[in-house]
Amino acid sequence: MTITSPASVLQQLIRCPSITPQTSGCFDLLQTLLAPLGFAIERPRFSAANTPTVENFYAKRAASGAPAMGAGKSAPAKAKAGQSPAKHLLFAGHIDVVPTGAETAWRFPPFAGQIADGLLYGRGAVDMKGGIACFIAALARLTAEQQQPDSGAISLLLTGDEEGPAINGTVKLLHWAAQKGEDWSAALVGEPSSAEILGDMIKIGRRGSLSAILRVEGKQGHVAYPQRAGNPLPVLARLLTALTSAPLDQGTPHFQPSNLELTSIDTGNEAANMIPPAAAARFNIRFNDSWTIERLQAELENRLARAAGQVGSSSAVSYHLEFAANPASAFITDNKALIAPLQAAITALTGQRPALSTSGGTSDARFIKDYCPVAEFGLVGQTMHQINECVTIEDLENLTEIYRHFIRNYFAGRD
Ligand SMILES: [Zn+2]
Repeated sequence: MTITSPASVLQQLIRCPSITPQTSGCFDLLQTLLAPLGFAIERPRFSAANTPTVENFYAKRAASGAPAMGAGKSAPAKAKAGQSPAKHLLFAGHIDVVPTGAETAWRFPPFAGQIADGLLYGRGAVDMKGGIACFIAALARLTAEQQQPDSGAISLLLTGDEEGPAINGTVKLLHWAAQKGEDWSAALVGEPSSAEILGDMIKIGRRGSLSAILRVEGKQGHVAYPQRAGNPLPVLARLLTALTSAPLDQGTPHFQPSNLELTSIDTGNEAANMIPPAAAARFNIRFNDSWTIERLQAELENRLARAAGQVGSSSAVSYHLEFAANPASAFITDNKALIAPLQAAITALTGQRPALSTSGGTSDARFIKDYCPVAEFGLVGQTMHQINECVTIEDLENLTEIYRHFIRNYFAGRD
């Protein structure tokens, strides 16, 4: 295997069938690749009740003058007069993959890493073993050219629990590393951020996410005698109208308007002649940076209280709004030292001017943003999680060169 060839590295990674939470030899392989490049490697395992124990991976190469792993807190890198502190670039991602679906539906076995017609097939090819392979190939090329930065450090933080519960993965790994004194100046997440062609999109933030359940309690009864019952459904309908009829906002410069999406309305009632005792609606809001979680929750409470005041009549009916325990706040990365060299590398290699986007679902960037500025850039995500997930050899080559230019220019402070 040639480590400077991203396709070769990716084939080896795909042949480790690392469906969450199995790591299936992926970390052994990465250790074999990164140790000769000068990386010190640790593989902490994290556990929690009711979730599988997960192995994680942290590799660090500190150039001369930069602190070794774990030495950051006690001996911070002293900047010489007139120099900025040493940079520490973090590459973050995951080696776990989603299940294959029907293996017989694949053109090639999903863990074979077969190449055909300029495409490399396999589960994880784009999400996101491809991004990891390109970053390692880029590091190997810089090392071979003796172009690795002479100050600062590079680390890789990889989990085996991104596609699963995400409890024993990136969150704990970041905390573990920070406790040891690790301190990053910027992070690049190698998820497949490109939409249609390589280089058309960098993700520089994400919308927040808030889920809730709205319960209306009524009084069960016979449909022929509604005066003896309290039907929760008309009340729920009015409350939902109050939640959804006015837009939450008009969007902000980097974000689309916030959106409340109803996901279910249930009574559990199967009888045609019964007024149900209760009804519940579930919804999720993807919201932009004009809201904090607390202000958004307050807005929803206010809308419901106003509508309930107008409903007013039936004392037999009451409602209760409950928020899910794991909301995520919206964030945006505004860090020129990170974004400018990334944009420049993409444009130089692909001719694309990448859109700076906050679209899409959540990713581990939501955890990393609490430690340092973070952006996501990687392959085209079109076949992720699908049958016949695949990537072009050309995209692997171009992404490797983008990463190589980006790493060099990030440490040089050049665009
Ligand atoms: Zn992914």
